[in-house]
Amino acid sequence: MDKSKLVFDSVLDLIGNTPLIRLQKITKGFKGNYLAKVESFNPGQSSKDRIALHIIEEAERQGILKPGDTIIETTSGNTGFSIAMVSVIKGYECILAVSSKSSADKIDMLKNMGAKVYVCPANVKADDPRSYYEVAKRLHNEIKGSVYINQYFNKLNTAAHYHTTGPEIWNQTEGKITHLVACSGTGGTISGTAQYLKEQNPNVKVIGVDAFGSVIKKYHETREFDEKEIYPYRIEGLGKNLIPTATDFDAIDEFVKVSDEESAHSARELAKTEGLFSGYTSGAAVQALKQLNEMDYFKPTDNVVVIFPDHGSRYMSKIYSDKWMNDQGFFDTQNEEAAQSIQY
Ligand code: PMP
Repeated sequence: MDKSKLVFDSVLDLIGNTPLIRLQKITKGFKGNYLAKVESFNPGQSSKDRIALHIIEEAERQGILKPGDTIIETTSGNTGFSIAMVSVIKGYECILAVSSKSSADKIDMLKNMGAKVYVCPANVKADDPRSYYEVAKRLHNEIKGSVYINQYFNKLNTAAHYHTTGPEIWNQTEGKITHLVACSGTGGTISGTAQYLKEQNPNVKVIGVDAFGSVIKKYHETREFDEKEIYPYRIEGLGKNLIPTATDFDAIDEFVKVSDEESAHSARELAKTEGLFSGYTSGAAVQALKQLNEMDYFKPTDNVVVIFPDHGSRYMSKIYSDKWMNDQGFFDTQNEEAAQSIQY
């Protein structure tokens, strides 16, 4: 969209064309140049605005969606918010089945954006009838004229990033990008962006960020689903207990796993060093950069683009709450007040 305009017809006109912001301090001493693609500049404050708009407009083009129809999705919050936002403007009903791991703030935001929200248990298997996948499928079958976005298994999710995020990064770096570092949840962001960038320059290296407790990294390495990899973790939107077909594993060169605790501290550090108040997975992406730097992975001439998927305001009751950090045992000290004054 053309953001140089002075007046816009709706929030939809402001989706995409997010800035690349140079990381100045948090990567100090690292070899290479680091640029963050800050997706919180989308009107719904996350990268998911892109997929909501792309998938809904594709369904309209194909005549699948008509005014007044219902859009259903499973979501960790961000996709739901974006779908709800696009539905408000375009006049659709929006039903969201969300994980109980999602923050209370996120759920309240969805409701205030006009969505009907079903909260489903987080730590059940994907094929359990209580899982948010199964709840969404059931509602889709029950409601006539409904569309199930199904972001984990929808190639249009990946295509949205192939058509927008990829070309934007290529143009913004004037083709000089050498590495892309991005979190993988559905895998849509990393895969679509990687596909586009590798078409322009096959030498661009793509590094995915995965969570301890998720099967994605192991699957990438072995192409086998290893249930032993799965255990509960705190980061929302990153990693998975199933293999999403929206992920193009061949477009990704390698994965780095990050911990809940270090990712939370990296997000807090990002705010205090770069003035970027970002979400938990942005902290995870920074944590991955730190681990890669420890491994002496990058060269001084490398131009590394790292994707920051969403805004910190969605995590006030989690990583930005000292009480929550303390409750998780993420502060070295048990004294909450002392922990508050931690300097990064
Ligand atoms: N970060 C956050 C906060 C997210 O909500 C998501 C989406 N699940 C991701 C990262 C990962 O993006 P993708 O689904 O495109 O892999």
